[in-house]
Amino acid sequence: MPEPVNSTPTPFDAARFAKAVRQRLQSLQRSGVSSMTTATGQGVDLSELQNHLATIARHGLPSMEQELPAAESAVTPVVAESVQITAVADSSPIVSASDANPTAVPNDPVMPSKKHKELDLVCQDVADCTACAELAATRISTVFGVGNPNARLVFYGEAPGADEDKQGEPFVGRAGKLLNKIIEAMGLSREEIYILNTIKCRPPGNRNPTPAEQQNCSEFLQRQLEIIQPEYIVCLGAIASHSFLDCKTPIGKMRGQFFEKNGSKVLCTFHPAYLLRDPRRKRDVWDDMQFLMKDMGLPIPRKSKGVE
Ligand code: SF4
Repeated sequence: MPEPVNSTPTPFDAARFAKAVRQRLQSLQRSGVSSMTTATGQGVDLSELQNHLATIARHGLPSMEQELPAAESAVTPVVAESVQITAVADSSPIVSASDANPTAVPNDPVMPSKKHKELDLVCQDVADCTACAELAATRISTVFGVGNPNARLVFYGEAPGADEDKQGEPFVGRAGKLLNKIIEAMGLSREEIYILNTIKCRPPGNRNPTPAEQQNCSEFLQRQLEIIQPEYIVCLGAIASHSFLDCKTPIGKMRGQFFEKNGSKVLCTFHPAYLLRDPRRKRDVWDDMQFLMKDMGLPIPRKSKGVE
């Protein structure tokens, strides 16, 4: 005899429903859909809708007695109405090629758009920061960080130099160009990863950042990494490695192995500026990158020239 079907009605699970709908919307976005039209002709932005669904997935539907914030109160009618897709072709897809890259984290609990907003807030705090009096007085710009907020991989350097100070972006000088070659040799691009530094302001004369400056800036770094949540962090050079892992071990002894910090795998290698002074070390860095790529599941080119 077949198993009897449970006649007790299953209670509606709003969080589960929201999660399923959100996954479907993410799939639509990847195929270029950016908005929908409800049966009553109302336009709905997919990113906004996903943010509402993420709230429901996390907290469930608000009770009827509870006074709803304006943004959340818009959820119910949008979800309840039958939704028709009308804009399949989108000239400016919300999910960019870099967001959809194989190094990005799929189904991330924090949406990329939300990550952008959260990073913007940290960036504003950095721009206003004067905790290091000397650096704040001499900098042209703060150098926050750049890349994909949804990246699996973060490159973590030391401090901005003159070019970075002028342009407000990390690794844009000679060492930055060499870092670009390392990234390209890995089959990646700057847009697919995230790049940041130990401190956000240039130390005058390119001196090393002091422990006090690193300490002052550590809160910003921590907030950035909490938002990005990278699986892998590559510390470039001794300053970044020692600062991040709170140790004094020579960089040559730290290479070729992963350390763990706050849920990320951390790999230490030579700084590109050091490679410019001693090109023989490029081979070592390429060995480290292959070690990393293997762990990340990235293909290693058979006839790669490595880092040149
Ligand atoms: S280095 Fe960091 S902590 Fe120091 S002034 Fe710049 S942003 Fe502020």
